[in-house]
Amino acid sequence: MPLPALASFLLLLFTLCYAGLCAAQPFAACRKCRGFGFATKTDRKGRAKRGKDCRRCKATGARIRRGRHLWDLWRRTHERGTRPTPTAGTRTESRPWL
Ligand SMILES: [Zn+2]
Repeated sequence: MPLPALASFLLLLFTLCYAGLCAAQPFAACRKCRGFGFATKTDRKGRAKRGKDCRRCKATGARIRRGRHLWDLWRRTHERGTRPTPTAGTRTESRPWL
């Protein structure tokens, strides 16, 4: 297999795997708190202790994957753009403000 074709195939394979991952698991562990939802600190005896809530993930411990976020943005924009427009003749009552 020539090198450009191999590179294209590997790029396509990586893209499809990442799309499948975004569809199967849209959320991943927060990078700052590693999925705990809070910081860990130690007390004076050296034991691990719960720290402050993570501000980046709002203490959920989850972040949305970048590919899934982009997919949601695209889908929302597409739905807004293809939503059927309301027609003027749908109103049934003659004076709706009364
Ligand atoms: Zn976090």
